[in-house]
Amino acid sequence: MGPRRAEILATLGVSTLQDLLYYLPRDWQDRRETQDLSLPTATGLVVVQGRVTRAGQHSAGPSLAFFKAALATRQGKLQAVWFKHRSRRFDVFAGLTKDVTPGADLWFVGRAEPGLAGIREIQVDEHYPLDDERWRIHVQRLAPVYPLTEGITQRLMRELLFAAVQRAAPKALDAVPSSLMQKRQLLSAAQAFRAVHFPGSPEELEAARSRLAYEELLLLELAWILKRRQTRGLVKGFGYAVKRTLLTPLRSQLGFELTAAQKRVINEIFADLQQPYPMTRLLQGDVGSGKTVVALASLLLAVENGYQGALMVPTEILAEQHKSTAEKMLRGLPVRVSLLTSRTPPKQRDKILEEVRRGNIDIIIGTHALLETDVAFPRLRLAVIDEQHRFGVRQRSTLRQKSSLVDLLIMTATPIPRTLALSLYGDLDVSTLDEMPPGKARTQTLRAGEDEAFEQLKREVTAGRQGYIVYPIIEESATLDLQSAKAEFERLSKGGPLAGLRVGLIHGALSGRQKAATMKDFAAGTLDVLVATQVIEVGIDVPNATVMVIQNADRFGLSSLHQLRGRIGRGTAASRCYLVAKTSAPVAQRRLETLVESADGFRIAEEDLKLRGPGEFLGTSQHGELSLRAADLVKDAALLAQAREDAEALLAADTRLSRPDHALLRQRLLSLYQKQWDWIDLA
Ligand code: ADP
Ligand code: MG
Repeated sequence: MGPRRAEILATLGVSTLQDLLYYLPRDWQDRRETQDLSLPTATGLVVVQGRVTRAGQHSAGPSLAFFKAALATRQGKLQAVWFKHRSRRFDVFAGLTKDVTPGADLWFVGRAEPGLAGIREIQVDEHYPLDDERWRIHVQRLAPVYPLTEGITQRLMRELLFAAVQRAAPKALDAVPSSLMQKRQLLSAAQAFRAVHFPGSPEELEAARSRLAYEELLLLELAWILKRRQTRGLVKGFGYAVKRTLLTPLRSQLGFELTAAQKRVINEIFADLQQPYPMTRLLQGDVGSGKTVVALASLLLAVENGYQGALMVPTEILAEQHKSTAEKMLRGLPVRVSLLTSRTPPKQRDKILEEVRRGNIDIIIGTHALLETDVAFPRLRLAVIDEQHRFGVRQRSTLRQKSSLVDLLIMTATPIPRTLALSLYGDLDVSTLDEMPPGKARTQTLRAGEDEAFEQLKREVTAGRQGYIVYPIIEESATLDLQSAKAEFERLSKGGPLAGLRVGLIHGALSGRQKAATMKDFAAGTLDVLVATQVIEVGIDVPNATVMVIQNADRFGLSSLHQLRGRIGRGTAASRCYLVAKTSAPVAQRRLETLVESADGFRIAEEDLKLRGPGEFLGTSQHGELSLRAADLVKDAALLAQAREDAEALLAADTRLSRPDHALLRQRLLSLYQKQWDWIDLA
C-alpha cells in the first residue's frame, strides 16, 4: 500500500494487519441473489448482471453530470445511471468509460426506487466487470459494508479486507485465553475474523460477531475491574467518625421521616466513607426519590469531622435551588454554606474563595466550574455531583484524577439499565433509592390535544395552581416544523386560549440573571404559567405546580419526558401531565404509551434503551468511549454477564495478567484502554 493510503487508514485507527482484522463492518448486505426485475424490491438494493448495449455521458446542469447505460439482462432491459459532480480538472467518468462499453458484461449493485411495475432503472453504486475475478469479493455473497472516510471507497476497503483476511486471519491468535474459549465454546479468532468479514451464512455471521463481542466485553470488564482495584489501592489518609452532632439535629428538623431506602443508602455511604480508600459511589434514584437529603446527610458527616464538602451540579438554577434547600434543612445548625457559580460577582467570588481557603465555609454549592477553578479547598474531603448523567465516562475519570483522594458521590435520576451500568459504571459501587417518599400524590400522564390540555391548565390555574408548558425548541426554525417556546410565549401572552393568565418564559438562551428572576416569580406565585424548554428538566421544585403540557412530545427522549414530568407532583395535590403530539408514527406512539402506563424510571429507561439503542440513549460521546464495535449492549446482556464473571475469575487467578498465556489479552487491553482512558496500570 502506498503512503497516502496508509495515512488515510491511520486516521481510521488502522496501521497494522491486526488493526485491519479488527476493523469490523458496520453492516452486511445480502447480495446472494440477483434481483427479479419484474418485482418491486423491498430494500431498494439491486444486484444484477447485464451486458451493456449503449453507454454515454450526459449533462444535467452546470454542476452535475450523469452517465447512462442501457443493459440487457437475462430478465429484460434495464437502465443504469451514475450521477457525479462535474469537475473542471478531470473527467469524472474516466473509470466508467473504460469499463462500461457496449458489449461488456458486468455486475451492477445499486438502488432502485421501489415501483409497482418492478425495476426499470437503477442508480449504480458499484460495478464489477465479469472478466475480472475480483467481482467474487463483492457480489453473490453477504457483502460487508465498512465505515469509510474520505479517500477510501467501499470497494477498496472490501478488497483490502479480503486480502487481509486471506493472509492474516488463519494465523490470528486468540486474545481470549484457551480455557475460556473452551468454557464458552467460542469460535477461534481465525474462524471469527474470516466469518465476520466474509460470512458464508447469517448464522455463521452471528456466531462470529458474538465471539468478537465477547472479547470486547471481556476486555471492557477487565478494564473496569482494574480501575476499581486501582482506586481501592489508594489510601486517602483520613477517616470519619459518625458523631451525630449535626446528623441528629438534621433528622429532627426535617419535618419528615426518612424512607427505609434513604436510611439504607445513607448507611451504605457512611460505611464506604469509613474505608481507607476513597469512595466512588453512584447513587441512582428516580426523580423525587429524595436524593438531596442523602447528599446533605453525607456532607454533614464530613462537616462533623471538621472537613469541607462540595455539591456540584450542571446548571445555575439547580445550584440556587440546592442552596435554598440546604439553608432550609440546616436552619439553626452551625454549618456555613456558600454558593459559587459563574454569576457570582467577581468581588464576592474573591471573598468566598478566601473564606473557603481559610476554612470558614463548610459546604460549597456550585456548578462544575468549581472543580476547574483555582479554588483551593484545604480540607475538601467529599464531593457530591448531582445529575451526573449529563457527563461522560472520560469526564468522570478526569474528575477522579483531579481530586484523587477525595470521596466522590455521584447522583443521577436517569436510572441506568443493569447491562449499561455494568459496562459504563463498572468501577463504581452503586446505591439505589428504590422507594418514593410517602404522601406524594401520583402524577397522572395522559395523551391529549392542545385545546384540551390548555383547558385543563386553565382550570387548575383558576383553582389556584400553576403549570408548565414545555416546547422542544427555543426559536422557530425554517427546517423543523415544531412549535417553539419563544413564538408560543408571544402568542399565548397576547390572549387566545390562556387569556387572563400570567405567563412567563424560561429557556437556556436567557442569561442566568433572567432565568433566576423568572424562577423566583414563578416560585412566589406571581406567574401562573411557565412557558419553557427542557432547561426545567432538573432542579425546579415548585410544589404548587400541578399541570404540565408537553408540546411535540414525540420529539423528546423517553428519559427526558420522565424527568420533565418529575417537575410536577411535588406537592400533595394530584397532578397531571399532558403529552401533546401530532405524530402517528408507531414508534413514537409506543414511546408515549410507555409513559402513560408506567411511572417507574427503571422500566422507562429499559424501554428507552431498547427503542433508541445504546448510542442514542447514552449520547454518542459516551457510547463512543466504550470502544464497542461488535457488541450490542441491548442484545448482548447475557454475554456481558458472562464476560464480567470471566474477567473477575481471570484477574483473581492472575492479578497483573502476567502469565504468558495472557500476554495477548494484556496487549489488547493496554492498546484499547490505556491510551484512551489513561488509567490502566498493570505494572
Ligand atoms: P430527587 O431525588 O429528585 O433529587 P429531592 O431530593 O428533590 O428528589 O426530593 C423531592 C421532594 O421530596 C423534596 O421536596 C423533598 O423535601 C421531599 N422528600 C425527600 N425525602 C422525603 C421523605 N423521606 N419523606 C417525605 N418527603 C421527602
Ligand atoms: Mg435532585
